[in-house]
Amino acid sequence: MATRLRQANKKCTVIGGSGFLGQHMVESLVEKGYSVNVFDIQKGFENSKVQFFLGDLCRKEDLLPALQGVVMVFHCASPTPSSNNRELFYKVNYLGTKVVLEACREAGVQKLVLTSSASVVFEGTDIKGGTEDLPYAKKPIDYYTETKILQEKEVLSANAPERNFFTTAIRPHGIFGPRDPQLVPILIQAAKHGKMKFMIGDGKNLVDFTFVENVVHGHILAAEQLQRDSPLCGKAFHITNDEPIPFWEFLSRILTGLNYEAPRYRIPYWLAYYLALLLSLVVLLLSPLVALSPTFTPMRVALAGTFHYYSCERAKKHMGYKPPVSLDEAVARTVESYPHLRRDA
Ligand code: NAD
Repeated sequence: MATRLRQANKKCTVIGGSGFLGQHMVESLVEKGYSVNVFDIQKGFENSKVQFFLGDLCRKEDLLPALQGVVMVFHCASPTPSSNNRELFYKVNYLGTKVVLEACREAGVQKLVLTSSASVVFEGTDIKGGTEDLPYAKKPIDYYTETKILQEKEVLSANAPERNFFTTAIRPHGIFGPRDPQLVPILIQAAKHGKMKFMIGDGKNLVDFTFVENVVHGHILAAEQLQRDSPLCGKAFHITNDEPIPFWEFLSRILTGLNYEAPRYRIPYWLAYYLALLLSLVVLLLSPLVALSPTFTPMRVALAGTFHYYSCERAKKHMGYKPPVSLDEAVARTVESYPHLRRDA
């Protein structure tokens, strides 16, 4: 009886489990002895130890079979931020998350851990050691973040001890690591095209980059400690490497690690910002004639040129969180994991 109960408590579902973070989460949960269901709109990988459920989280009938007999759910699905598709973000991140909540309640799930984002408080200006008490951004930097705010509010306010349903949100920042299809491949692609020669600003702005395994560790700690009367209920927690690093130094370490040159020249922050603003205006004026989606935007300039690092004291205090992998080790392991992107010496 006790064994059956323990087994049941170890059944979980990872929504978005085929994605970059999701796959790492699934692997770690399996390693820890959890029985894992993966729910995703695409089957991203093979793993005979998990059960895959293909479906759209916006459809309750798709979700319900993946939640049967499940105690804890991790929700880390989202359209990719670079798509900048307002309608899709709203549909999946906001309306879809409401469906996830409904389905969890209907299936008798007890714990829901949302992957939110530290960017929910970022407005494009410096944040140094920001805590979770900062207000949500009044002017979020993009549509993606706008809907991450709506999503997080919805999940945290759904915490309902009277129904034995507990929710919490993890806010990572700048996730990186092996198998990330975004950060490293995009950086190397830019370097190959000679676009990584300039840094924006004086290169001193500190930012959090967080190793994927540390982010996973934060999620699993949260899920295991989320229960009645826990300080996690209905609250958000930053999870970082707790080692903020100058933005351009981090990129330079990855670039030089893969045998590319680090950026050498500097553009003043204000100049880059106004150039990007000007470009956005031109794109707007031309939009009735031609569809353009520039990568050099004021939002990207702000992300690259401002301080934005966050305190994870709350996670340390209430979850006993401590990043298991240091930044040095994380960068080394990440670089090693992309041998195909290394430039021949
Ligand atoms: P990812 O794109 O690799 O994974 C997202 C997964 O969600 C994909 O497998 C995708 O197929 C799935 N998905 C999208 N729409 C779906 C739908 N309608 N139904 C079912 N599945 C759907 O993204 P990631 O980088 O692993 O990010 C995971 C989470 O972490 C996201 O919630 C993201 O907002 C958050 N986050 C990421 C970062 C980062 O630096 N990558 C930083 C902060 C927060």
